[in-house]
Amino acid sequence: MKPLWLFAILALSFPLVTQTKSSPKPVIHHAASTPTAVHRSALVIDTHADTPQRMLDDHYDLTEPLNGGYLNFESAKQGNLGAEFFSIWVEPKLNEGHYARRTLELIDAVHQQALKHPDKMMMASSPEDILRAHREHKLAALMGIEGGHSIEDSIGLLRDYHRLGVRYMTLTWSNSNNWADSSGDADDPSVHHTQDGLSDFGKDVVYEMNRLGMMVDISHVSDKTFYRAVITSRAPVFASHSAARALTNVPRNMTDDMLRAVARSGGPNSKGGVVMVNFYSGFISDAWWQAWKAQGPERKAGEDAQIAQWKADGKTITYEMTDALDKQWASKVPRPPLSALIDHIDHVAKVAGIDHVGLGSDFDGIPSSPEGIDSAADLPKITAALMKRGYSPEDCRKILGQNFLRFFREVQATAKELQAQSAQRPAITDQQPFKK
Ligand SMILES: [Zn+2]
Repeated sequence: MKPLWLFAILALSFPLVTQTKSSPKPVIHHAASTPTAVHRSALVIDTHADTPQRMLDDHYDLTEPLNGGYLNFESAKQGNLGAEFFSIWVEPKLNEGHYARRTLELIDAVHQQALKHPDKMMMASSPEDILRAHREHKLAALMGIEGGHSIEDSIGLLRDYHRLGVRYMTLTWSNSNNWADSSGDADDPSVHHTQDGLSDFGKDVVYEMNRLGMMVDISHVSDKTFYRAVITSRAPVFASHSAARALTNVPRNMTDDMLRAVARSGGPNSKGGVVMVNFYSGFISDAWWQAWKAQGPERKAGEDAQIAQWKADGKTITYEMTDALDKQWASKVPRPPLSALIDHIDHVAKVAGIDHVGLGSDFDGIPSSPEGIDSAADLPKITAALMKRGYSPEDCRKILGQNFLRFFREVQATAKELQAQSAQRPAITDQQPFKK
């Protein structure tokens, strides 16, 4: 792609003729519409990366080489990544009793990176901030909390996290909490679940998120909680990192009906939410998921033995150690082709609509990704693959970031309306004051 890219710059919008061995007729492109040029012209936004754990536990600095990770400044630059939502994820078992402390430390780790590298990265908390960072050629760093347990059942903590810059929250991670249910344990009778997907407090949380302008993220939640969140939320909802269940049948993925519900979510004049597609091999390939599941008992025994050994040796177990262990097992399963990921993006675009799809990589949170996607530097390959399937430059730019930006703006606008209405939470009602 490089020579084409160089030529694109020289030729600007002059027609460009390329001829390859396999295509006897010359293919005529306008340089401004080559995949590379289209990708370069886009504001690329990814809504989920788990890098903060590396930053906190392993003192990882984004100026360092990737060293097994997916995201650093160099790869972000190569992939023309304009904005990243860093995931603030608190492992619920290891951090029992101090979820808030861990949440705050992860938030601090992201801020520290921005403070250390003001020439490369800028904390951002609004669509305008993302645009400003883009103009200044800096990575816009945003934050989303992954798992409602981080608020420890406190609306005050929710507001504190918002003050610190957090702009979305998945209502649950793989664990249900006191007020929302997770797809990870929805079928486990030993786990406490809500009556109808969200408790009254859970509805308060959703309302307060709407009022603050914090995006309601339904990735990870149970189907019941999903639908309850959609009818409770005054603003459109989104999935920061989810794929399609029609193509890969895992509970963590979304059914076609859910994809359409996200697209139609929000108030009567809403343009709806977005589904940001996860890159994890297990969520985009049935074959990969089946092989990973079959490997389960052997993997668990192997990992448990390794962890016991580390403990016996007196080692502190870090994120990098467990991540490497997971990746070692995942590497035994052949990676799905890039087309598997494109299939999911294409499916969401067809079912939910071209205005309701985007990218939620889950970089640094997944042990395997499709062939060719080894880091953020490979994002242009997605644009190239989409264009090969007939997606126009305009459509690609929507998928790469414009759809999300439009949604983010609407969530902020809804917050302003609610703040103007009243500082008080109205009485809890089962449904939003409008029907769609
Ligand atoms: Zn996740």
